[in-house]
Amino acid sequence: MKKLFCLLMTLVMMLFAVSALAEAVPAATFTPGTYEAEAQGLLSTIKVWVTVDENEITGVLIDANGETEALGGMAAGKLSAAIMAAQTPNVDAISGATVSSTAIKAAATEALQAAGADIAVLDANRRDTGDKGEKEDKTIDTEIVVIGAGGAGMAASIMLKQAGKDFVLLEKMPYAGGNTTKATGGMNAAETHYQKEQGIEDSVDLFVADTIKGGHDLNDPELVRVMASESAGAIDWLDSIGADLPKISFSGGASVNRIHAPADGSGVGEYLVEKFSSKLNELGVEIMYETKATELLTDADGKICGVKAEGPDANYTFNCKAVILTTGGFGANEEMYTQYRPDLKGTVTTNAPGATGDGIVMAQALGAALVDIEQIQLHPTVEQTTSMLITESVRGDGAILVNQSGVRFTNELLTRDAVSAAELEQEGCYAYIIFDQNLRDHLKAIEKYVKTGITVQADTIEGLAEQLNIDPATLAKTLADWNECVKNQNDPEFGRTTGMDADLTTPPYYAIKIAPGIHHTMGGVKIDTSAHVINTEGNAIPGLYAAGEVTGGVHGGNRLGGNAVADIVIFGRIAAETAISELGGVAK
Ligand code: ADP
Repeated sequence: MKKLFCLLMTLVMMLFAVSALAEAVPAATFTPGTYEAEAQGLLSTIKVWVTVDENEITGVLIDANGETEALGGMAAGKLSAAIMAAQTPNVDAISGATVSSTAIKAAATEALQAAGADIAVLDANRRDTGDKGEKEDKTIDTEIVVIGAGGAGMAASIMLKQAGKDFVLLEKMPYAGGNTTKATGGMNAAETHYQKEQGIEDSVDLFVADTIKGGHDLNDPELVRVMASESAGAIDWLDSIGADLPKISFSGGASVNRIHAPADGSGVGEYLVEKFSSKLNELGVEIMYETKATELLTDADGKICGVKAEGPDANYTFNCKAVILTTGGFGANEEMYTQYRPDLKGTVTTNAPGATGDGIVMAQALGAALVDIEQIQLHPTVEQTTSMLITESVRGDGAILVNQSGVRFTNELLTRDAVSAAELEQEGCYAYIIFDQNLRDHLKAIEKYVKTGITVQADTIEGLAEQLNIDPATLAKTLADWNECVKNQNDPEFGRTTGMDADLTTPPYYAIKIAPGIHHTMGGVKIDTSAHVINTEGNAIPGLYAAGEVTGGVHGGNRLGGNAVADIVIFGRIAAETAISELGGVAK
């Protein structure tokens, strides 16, 4: 009897517990229909439509087309699938597209609330999205593994495919492009057919001299000479795959007009990544996304024989004969850059999130030598809350920099390292870039800054000063003095001679608060002119090739604008050519 009573009590308690649990986590309910909401993304208003039946989210449609960066669109696809799978809008943001992701999640939340959902209930009922943390092991045999689908990796892969090679292209992010996507200027090249057609006299020797002067004589002269002498051929190759760069202009540190850009003025990086991606598509090359290489394997003779990598569903071992490392730099890895440059602790970065130096670490484990690893380029005009780079053209078209006291402190168009150093000497280590409506009207890039909400604007200089907490009379005098400099084409205090074509007199006036940000890591693994990775004893590591920002030596102590793109296209091609010929093939 006592036993029965205990059993009954246990049953009653269990029932209570179950009903308490049921009460704590009620099932999600919705009013069936399609609900729309919107939120401000990085550059545009993102719209989200959520369709629900009584118990579940049955569709998530996202319009993020106004997010010009490819990332906005990528975030839309991934988040739509993630929200459907988890049945809640509270899913992880997509790395590299945080602002777009946050807007998408906010709009989805609002739409679901309009459908009568309680978001806390959706979270409590979150569905298991299938990530059990246990992955299968897969072994794949291939001839070559290319690690990193930025500009260098994609250029190398096009060459490999055209030569009929068997290879895989790994990319740890869910999208291709890396830092290459962020290149806005163009590609330096000398003696090109475009220069000849446009009557521009240039030479390989001049390109070499400019690059070494710009790099403070630290560059590896042999690598620079190869880059310069292969540059015209690389422009022809880009033409041959439909990635023409016919628009030539001037870029800092060059003696003549040498920087080659897309005809329509679009950013060279996004343009090349799009052209390379469609060429790879056309050739039938599939990029293995979200697959991060973690280790390079060698045989008893020290020759490359494999790569270990972690994919979304499997851990891979690739058995191969060669590896082309195109993993980019380490400007997004604070721990790594402060290891080499403790003074840069806390500095924001303009880099893509995949720029974490993995290739350098993996090559070092095989004894690779490093070159100029502490040479890191700061960009002087980076908005700190968004890490958005304010293009040099803003200063080139006439903007000035003032400190918190409202006065200029440098020739704003000195080299990037010099302007950055001058900013770091100011109170708070920041400055304001000041421009007017006339400059905005002439520079398309500014619309992006205004849309993102990083600009402060006022109808008068005094009004602008008040918003910036600067003494109005001081800022007004600074602007008046600068306009005098423009009128006289003479800047007695700082000796500026360029970017003085237009004064700053057309209201409204604008300011963006900026400070230096990490932009390019010039050092990296040592390579020879055939893109072999060289070890600390001066010998090539058999089967290991590298190209692009993962390498050091090309840029020395300061990279000239236009040379990063030259580096990735030219050495990406050379790495592939060397691998092809050493594995017994013919590059086409
Ligand atoms: P580059 O300009 O030299 O081509 P990018 O930064 O444009 O360099 O491209 C490097 C690419 O390599 C990025 O897309 C980055 O995400 C990818 N990457 C970095 N580390 C790894 C890794 N361990 N495995 C796979 N891909 C990687």
